[in-house]
Amino acid sequence: MKRILIAEDEERIAAFVEKGLRASGFTTTIASDGDTAADYARTGGFDLIILDIGLPGQDGFTVLRGLREDRVTTPVIVLTARDSVRDTVAGLEGGADDWMTKPFRFDELLARVRLRLRTAARAPEVTVLAQGRPQSRPAHPQGPRGTDLGRPDST
Ligand code: CA
Repeated sequence: MKRILIAEDEERIAAFVEKGLRASGFTTTIASDGDTAADYARTGGFDLIILDIGLPGQDGFTVLRGLREDRVTTPVIVLTARDSVRDTVAGLEGGADDWMTKPFRFDELLARVRLRLRTAARAPEVTVLAQGRPQSRPAHPQGPRGTDLGRPDST
């Protein structure tokens, strides 16, 4: 049975998502703040994470970045109320596999959950987002060292 972590501080939404997922045969755990979500995500053996962005403690973006930096490759679907392109792009660059803006229909979330689980099962190593990232930091060759040649030849 697939295990899904629901990181969501709004009880109503967490309960709504949990109820739907359980009815669809998933095992669920709710984390209602960012620190708990990060802990559970690292240690809980989850197959997928549904991650709200607006969380107490670490926000969802911070949780996500931390997980990806620690090479936790669990698929993540980001939930955000902030319906803006900038936030979405930030979420995807931070390593989200998919995202949804609130309010959303449960059917759509479920379809995305299933898709991500299938994709993860097929190609666990592939993260589309890791490719083609521009290298923003050019290598800086070390500047010339202070020359030692002008040593005073005092007598
Ligand atoms: Ca929230």
